[in-house]
Amino acid sequence: MWLAVVLVALGACLAPGAAPVTGETKPKAMVSEAQVVGWVQSWQKRLRLDDWKIDTRVVRTSELKPDTLGHLKWNSVSHTATIKVLNPADYDIPAADVAEDIEYTVVHELIHLQLSALPRDLNRKDIEEQVVNRLADALMRFERGESFRARSQPVTPYRAKPGESARNAGRREAGAGP
Ligand SMILES: [Zn+2]
Repeated sequence: MWLAVVLVALGACLAPGAAPVTGETKPKAMVSEAQVVGWVQSWQKRLRLDDWKIDTRVVRTSELKPDTLGHLKWNSVSHTATIKVLNPADYDIPAADVAEDIEYTVVHELIHLQLSALPRDLNRKDIEEQVVNRLADALMRFERGESFRARSQPVTPYRAKPGESARNAGRREAGAGP
């Protein structure tokens, strides 16, 4: 029942150019920048990526590609990388789910970084994306338990109406540096 109400509210928020929902106290997700940095540090250690210097940034929608929740850029020579994750304030999912989703983004981008050691076929980025999502799902399930909702299956709780675009929750970008 509660979920249905949230999804209805969410549908309204996704309409392009829709005015902000007023007269309604939408609970805001509480995720601090320090928390995000903490996830990056602990997953970096687990994935044995200690030889990378990783800069973590919590950014607004305008600093990410459209309909994406995160971004990774790396430089294989200097072993530096930048991970951007979407600011909780710009999330359209229930506030209670935002922390888990941001941690998932962190794991997802770090797996991309792990795979950057391999030769990359830019024509098959879709396959890399699928592999990354499945590995991230498996790791997050170990971390969070059975309640974790896998991202590698298409999830379409938001039915897009004509003229409306639903956020693709599975899409997180990775781009190589020079
Ligand atoms: Zn990705």
